[in-house]
Amino acid sequence: MPINMLDLTGKTAVVTGAARGIGRSVCLALGEARANVCPADLSEREVALVAEEVGGRCGVGAVPLEMDVSSVGSVTRGLEKAAGLTGSIDMLVNSAGVISTVPFPDLDEAEWNRVLSINLTGVFHCCRLVLPYMRRSGSGAIVNIASLAGKMGGGGFGTAAYATSKGGVITLTRSLAREAARWGIRVNAVAPGMVETDMVKSFGGKARVIEQTPLGRLGHPDEIAAAVLFLASPMSSYITGEVLNVDGGIRMD
Ligand code: NAD
Repeated sequence: MPINMLDLTGKTAVVTGAARGIGRSVCLALGEARANVCPADLSEREVALVAEEVGGRCGVGAVPLEMDVSSVGSVTRGLEKAAGLTGSIDMLVNSAGVISTVPFPDLDEAEWNRVLSINLTGVFHCCRLVLPYMRRSGSGAIVNIASLAGKMGGGGFGTAAYATSKGGVITLTRSLAREAARWGIRVNAVAPGMVETDMVKSFGGKARVIEQTPLGRLGHPDEIAAAVLFLASPMSSYITGEVLNVDGGIRMD
């Protein structure tokens, strides 16, 4: 096997939720692998900082995208800008997401819709709108950030709305993987356990999670990024429809 299968020189990646946490780590990992990177997130200022960091540290093209994944218009404009970099979009990493801590009895329609519109419909918009670019070049890799919650259900790892959205991401990943394989496009997901980011800063149950984790600690965003890099690169050229657990051994299936 050629050792340079992680060399993504000349490829362009769009990463949503890239202002911080897992998305930011993914941008840096892809940049280290020589890909051009387009960090996408809600704040223009924050994505500009990440683009500057990736460009400065890795010496690759880095174009910030102000993008709200729940808006078709916003995603369309962002992808057009990304495609301007090299003419194609070769990789899409869907990391944008929000947590919901509302227990089921208090869960109203507004909160349900808020979470689903970003975590699930946002992934749908990005996948659907990036497809024409990837079909044009006859190849592509999409990596969705799901969650352990999407496999186990809410309760411990996020609440019902969050877990349902991530369960949907897993099913969308597998469905699209089957349909898009004919166009040379692979679609996979990573299912992280609990990772040290802003999202879980105020989560009270960390000690319990660590206790249930065979590796005995929370994950680091770079450890999720490593799995994403593998699934986005030709290293995983015969893998599609896979949901890779990166959870310190909590779920071994
Ligand atoms: P984070 O809160 O640090 O980052 C999430 C990013 O998504 C933020 O920068 C935020 O601005 C962005 N975002 C939110 N709504 C958006 C929208 N409408 N459009 C564009 N961007 C938007 O969280 P993180 O821990 O880095 O989470 C990244 C992904 O990993 C999420 O999908 C999350 O559900 C998933 N995940 C996280 C954990 C964990 O323990 N941290 C575990 C499993 C899965």
